[in-house]
Amino acid sequence: MSEAVVKRAAVVTGGSRGIGRAICVALAKQGCNVVVNYCHGVDAAAETVAQCTTLGVQAVAVQADVSTAEGCKKLFEEAVNAFGRVDILVNNAGVTRDNLILRLSEEDFDKVLNANLKGAFLCCKEAARRMVRQRSGRIINLSSVVALRGNAGQTNYAASKAGLIGLTKSLARELASRGVTVNAVAPGFIATDMTAVLPEAVQTEMTKGIPLGRVGQPDDVANAVAFLAAEQSGYLTGQVLCVDGGMAM
Ligand code: NAP
Repeated sequence: MSEAVVKRAAVVTGGSRGIGRAICVALAKQGCNVVVNYCHGVDAAAETVAQCTTLGVQAVAVQADVSTAEGCKKLFEEAVNAFGRVDILVNNAGVTRDNLILRLSEEDFDKVLNANLKGAFLCCKEAARRMVRQRSGRIINLSSVVALRGNAGQTNYAASKAGLIGLTKSLARELASRGVTVNAVAPGFIATDMTAVLPEAVQTEMTKGIPLGRVGQPDDVANAVAFLAAEQSGYLTGQVLCVDGGMAM
């Protein structure tokens, strides 16, 4: 008699909309059960859950602010309560508070670093503890091409995303011997709420700098994340994969 196949369980931070939602759906298509984390968007998170469950997997929405240790602890406790394990962590939650440095407040610097970098650190810690015990796991961090190239008006955001690359490579070295891989994906200019707020002239100018000649879609990034999360990608760690239409090459 064959044993029932245990589905892998994924935690996606900021899974309520944009790239995070596309990642949840891509992982559901791979047959993973999904924990859809959100901070404010309860209805949007419910929609992501519905899109995942339609694909024949289980999905739950968990409200948690990942910039706090309590939030991350709660997120992982609820994930384990739901699925008994965590095989994949995608640190996707992110915010921007753009301004030129002379106008950038300390509060907005801290806000972005806490959500984007500290949040990923706290989630990695929760995940690593469990993955090391399992002797397997996949961690994928959402960085950005601005981490590699810089961007005027985004010293806080670029610092957080560059920090994620250092975190990714260091953690990849720490966890490699335990069968846990850690990689980063660096999207370019992707059509989501985050970029919709940019003035049209800026969007047009940015599109001109993309060799493939189009703005990226959330699915373009989600496909790369799903590739790194796949069981077959076990010999790939400490890498930064740019999904940017050639923008940063
Ligand atoms: P988005 O549309 O603005 O969505 C951001 C997501 O993060 C939302 O689901 C939001 O949840 C969640 N979030 C924010 N702060 C959170 C917190 N403290 N705790 C938990 N969840 C939190 O962003 P996106 O464009 O999809 O970007 C996703 C990731 O890709 C981000 O890390 C971003 O920096 C990165 N990225 C995006 C682009 C781009 O062009 N769009 C380019 C490079 C990198 P709620 O709505 O529930 O609050």
